[in-house]
Amino acid sequence: MAENYDCIIVGGGPAGLAAALYTARDRLKTLILEKFMPGGQISTTDRIENYPGFDRVGGIELVEKMQKQAAAFGAEIKTGAEVTALKKLNDASLEVACDKDKYFARAVILSPGSDYRKLGVPGEDKFRNAGAGVSYCGTCDAPFFKDKSVAAVGGGNTALEDTLHLCKHAAKVALIHRRDEFRATKVLQEELLAKANEPGSNLIIKYSTVATAIGGGDKVQSVKLKDLKTGREENYPCDGVFIFIGMVPNTGFLKDFVELNNAGYIKCDCAYLRTSVPGVFVAGDCRVGAAMQLATAVGDGVNAAMALKHYFRDPNWWHQPLADELKIKN
Ligand SMILES: Cc1cc2nc3c(=O)[nH]c(=O)nc-3n(C[C@H](O)[C@H](O)[C@H](O)COP(=O)(O)OP(=O)(O)OC[C@H]3O[C@@H](n4cnc5c(N)ncnc54)[C@H](O)[C@@H]3O)c2cc1C
Repeated sequence: MAENYDCIIVGGGPAGLAAALYTARDRLKTLILEKFMPGGQISTTDRIENYPGFDRVGGIELVEKMQKQAAAFGAEIKTGAEVTALKKLNDASLEVACDKDKYFARAVILSPGSDYRKLGVPGEDKFRNAGAGVSYCGTCDAPFFKDKSVAAVGGGNTALEDTLHLCKHAAKVALIHRRDEFRATKVLQEELLAKANEPGSNLIIKYSTVATAIGGGDKVQSVKLKDLKTGREENYPCDGVFIFIGMVPNTGFLKDFVELNNAGYIKCDCAYLRTSVPGVFVAGDCRVGAAMQLATAVGDGVNAAMALKHYFRDPNWWHQPLADELKIKN
């Protein structure tokens, strides 16, 4: 039987759980639809050191607390509920469809997150799942490789930024790039080359090279590299492999419903997180401009839940332009 809610949240990661805490505390009838188990990406790591207020915390421990806290205020969570389509109805409410069931709400918060793009080489999953040396986030994990040797793979802005960040922690960093030139902005390229050319630099760059396998016992010990020009292969010794080849937002099911950018991220106004469809907000790693961090995903969830109250008070608020537009001085 169809059920009606004030707010349906699509995705029970940190953004969705934070949003649910706020909407439930506002006594809004709230439902989270989560295709697997609540927690999202962060539940796959056992060590978070950059979430304010915690020296170090495990992902599962943290999201269990978030989930209990939201549920204690009345938020309902349905697991194994993959949202496949959304529809705006004539009365301005929203229909949210899963495989078998349909749910209805006055507003929706989209928080289906993003996944790291994988290299797809042997060893990647094994060492990632065990937290044993494969990572996709330099900002999150660089300090765990203090004084160690790491390889980084990629050539875009994030790859160069995170490689420079790795250089602050690791003893030795090898950046592996499949082309002769980087895609990243010129400024970042200049910074990277300046770093690599410093006397005694801990950064080396291997151009026209691909990583074909990650090897080791319990932990990463090497990455197999192939020079695309000469065909030469080597087992490069390292303690960690960082893969910076982009992210894929989980928004395929939304492409005919809300506006997405070319990369598939949900377009929004970054102040109130309104999307192109009135009554539909966005939060977390699936939106344009997301910082792809736990704390910012949580912040987005809170922000969307607060903005939702403006919409409930006055649906025309959706069409109001942003106040106080910033004018940048020269
Ligand atoms: C291994 C690892 C370590 C990390 N370490 C850190 C760290 O130390 N510090 C840090 O700040 N960040 C870290 N991050 C990044 C952080 O986890 C993310 O930024 C954060 O989880 C984003 O939250 P989110 O709620 O936007 O999305 P997600 O966490 O991706 O959650 C989205 C949820 O939506 C669900 N979903 C997707 N599609 C649907 C659908 N159609 N229907 C229903 N449900 C759906 C998914 O199953 C998922 O549970 C790490 C990420 C990983 C993978």
